[in-house]
Amino acid sequence: MDQVRAPLAPSAVCGAGTGRAATWAVLRGRLRQEDLPLCVRGPAACRVCRGPVSPGCARCFQCDRHHREGAGLLADAVVPVAYAVRGGRLADDLWRYKSAVPGAAAARARLRALLLVFLRDHGECVWREAGMPGPGLVAVVPSGGGRPGPHPLRDLALPYLSLPVAGLSVRPEAAARGRDVSVTWLRSGRRVSGASVLLIEDTWVSGGSAQSAAAALKAAGAARVAVVVLGRHLNPADPLSARLVSSLRTRHPWLATCAVHPDRTGAAPSTAPAGAPAPAAPGQ
Ligand SMILES: [Zn+2]
Ligand SMILES: [Zn+2]
Repeated sequence: MDQVRAPLAPSAVCGAGTGRAATWAVLRGRLRQEDLPLCVRGPAACRVCRGPVSPGCARCFQCDRHHREGAGLLADAVVPVAYAVRGGRLADDLWRYKSAVPGAAAARARLRALLLVFLRDHGECVWREAGMPGPGLVAVVPSGGGRPGPHPLRDLALPYLSLPVAGLSVRPEAAARGRDVSVTWLRSGRRVSGASVLLIEDTWVSGGSAQSAAAALKAAGAARVAVVVLGRHLNPADPLSARLVSSLRTRHPWLATCAVHPDRTGAAPSTAPAGAPAPAAPGQ
C-alpha cells in the first residue's frame, strides 16, 4: 500500500488527520461499492479502446481507421478504466461533472477518486504498455466541441499529479475535427521533445480527440504518449455494444486488474510496443 505506483502529489486525496494508507483504502472501498464495469482484456473488445468489435476483428471500426490515418503518431497505449454505459452511473458522472447541475461536485469527487486510485494501482501497467519508464509530463485532451476556458478535467486531476503540464490548445484556425485523427487540430504549449506524456481523457467515444491530441504531442517531439480514459462509452442500443454490455455481467474484483494488466505469468501484454523497457514508476 505504501509503495507509490503513480506520480501522485503528496497531498493527493488525503484528508486532514487521516493516514495515507487508510485514505486509499477508504477510496477503494467506495469505488468497490459502485461496482463499475471495468475494462479488461477480452476477445469481444477492441485491442486499442476495449470497445465493441465485429467478430474476428482485433480493432473496432474507428481504431482501425485511426491506425490507417495516423500510423506513427497515435498513442502508444490507450487504457480505459471502466465502461461508461449510457444510462449508467459512470456515464452520468462524466456528463454531470462538467456542469453546474445538482450532483456535479459529488460526480467530480467520484471521478477524481477513480482516476487517482487507478493511477496508483495500475500506473505501472500503463507505462509498461506504452513502453515508457513513467510519465515526465501530463496533458488533458481538450474538448472536441471547442469549449471555452480550461477543460474541467484539468481542475479535477492535475492538482493531484506531481507532473509538469504539457498544455494543449485548439488552434484558432483549425477546422472542425470530426471523428478523424488530425495532427493540426491542436498545438502543444510546452516543449515536449523526448518526453513521455500521460494524456488524460474523460470519455472515449470515437477516440478522435484523444488520438489527435496524441498526434499533436508526437508531432511536437514527444517520445511516448499513454492515454488513460475514465470511461469508454457504450450505447446498448447499438447491437455490437449490446453484446459487449451483456458480457460485462462477469465481475472482476474491483481494480484487481485493468485493460493492460500483465497476464499471470508476468509476461508483457501482447499489445505492448516492441522493445518496451521494464517500467520504473516515479516516486511520490
Ligand atoms: Zn477501438
Ligand atoms: Zn493493471
